[in-house]
Amino acid sequence: MKYNPKINEDTARLDGFTKLHPYQPVDQCQGILELLFNLEQLLVTISGMSAFTLQPAAGAHGELTGMLIIRAYLEKYGEKRRKIIIPDSAHGTNPASAALCGYEVESIQSNKDGLVDLKKLKAAVTQDTAALMITNPNTLGLFERDILEICKIVHDAGGLVYCDGANMNALLGIARPGDMGIDILHLNMHKTFSTPHGGGGPGAGPIGVTEKLKPFLPVPRIEMAGQSLKEGMNNTKHDTSMTKNYTLNYQYPDSIGRVRAFYGHIGIMVRAYTYLLSLGKEGVCRVGEYSVLNANYLRQKLIKYYDIPYGKTCMHEFVISAKKQKEKGASALDIAKRLLDYGFHAPTIYFPLIVEEALMVEPTETESMEMLDAFADAMIQIATDIEQRPEAIRNTPQTTPVGRPDEVKAAREPKLKWETR
Ligand SMILES: *Cc1c(COP(=O)(O)O)cnc(C)c1O
Repeated sequence: MKYNPKINEDTARLDGFTKLHPYQPVDQCQGILELLFNLEQLLVTISGMSAFTLQPAAGAHGELTGMLIIRAYLEKYGEKRRKIIIPDSAHGTNPASAALCGYEVESIQSNKDGLVDLKKLKAAVTQDTAALMITNPNTLGLFERDILEICKIVHDAGGLVYCDGANMNALLGIARPGDMGIDILHLNMHKTFSTPHGGGGPGAGPIGVTEKLKPFLPVPRIEMAGQSLKEGMNNTKHDTSMTKNYTLNYQYPDSIGRVRAFYGHIGIMVRAYTYLLSLGKEGVCRVGEYSVLNANYLRQKLIKYYDIPYGKTCMHEFVISAKKQKEKGASALDIAKRLLDYGFHAPTIYFPLIVEEALMVEPTETESMEMLDAFADAMIQIATDIEQRPEAIRNTPQTTPVGRPDEVKAAREPKLKWETR
């Protein structure tokens, strides 16, 4: 999770935003419509896609929306393709979203470098392929170098390419999925565009599409009609005499319809817009550079102590395998718990599934060198302790109010209501 600036919270709490009613007539909510419209345009510029919708409520919801669009598009042209191909390194929501749309999921094994295996992909792609769902950079923190070739293989067979853009952080200002041949992309606002992440949300998972998929986007579409007061004079983009009028357009007969009540999680959009404007173009362009630099700095510091099975460098994240430590008697879970004693939020563990005893480290661009060093020192101390007395790590955390909750019980018998005794 990246640092979430306070100014995001200040703007999201402005009365003008929080006191809006979703049923208010559009002429009374021109401000928020302008913000949403501008945010869509910024995402278009950043990603190279043709158009965005901000409706989906999370990354997984964006995937579902994307799958619905693929289905609507194929049906419109009389195609009955039934399969979605997904690499085995994918996030679990990918196959779930495809299956929810009635598609059959075909998993393809990654190659020894942790990337999409071109031979296996070619063998899997047929006239029955509706789409490939690819994550780039993938969940191992590696850039799919063959992305152009991958898109070509799928397109040549008449399929579409969906990109899970949860790892867009690494590409900001450097590369654009729209230039790589991607047809549909989701972004995770709570991962890339700074909103508190965790505790079940809310988040947002806008999706971007190419020109040919635009008619299938959810309605309403936010549109702008410009009217120049001084007809013919100074009729430029930045003409201040231009009065802009934002509308909600429902007239898209091929649209998949609404995917969310009203227009999505507005508060998240205000935060994302604030974040982008406060960084400015130059700042946004440094996000990718710093997040990749920070991850590689940590990776290099930890490589002597932990196995990092794929790649020699990484994008904005890398995945440790604590298999060696597990053999000594302390698992990835134990390491994550021990990190809490050092004051660090534990990383994602046991994902991606293709790495045994996985710990996913994603520092983001906002951590200082002091913080990166402190995290590396803690990880190194834990590795050293495991060598000497693994049982001490198993009995952690020691400094938190709650030690180790019964996770199986929490999952099987959740208590979702506060009950006063
Ligand atoms: C987080 C994530 C998702 C799911 O996004 P949510 O916003 O949590 O629904 C999907 N794919 C990848 C690679 C992710 O990291």
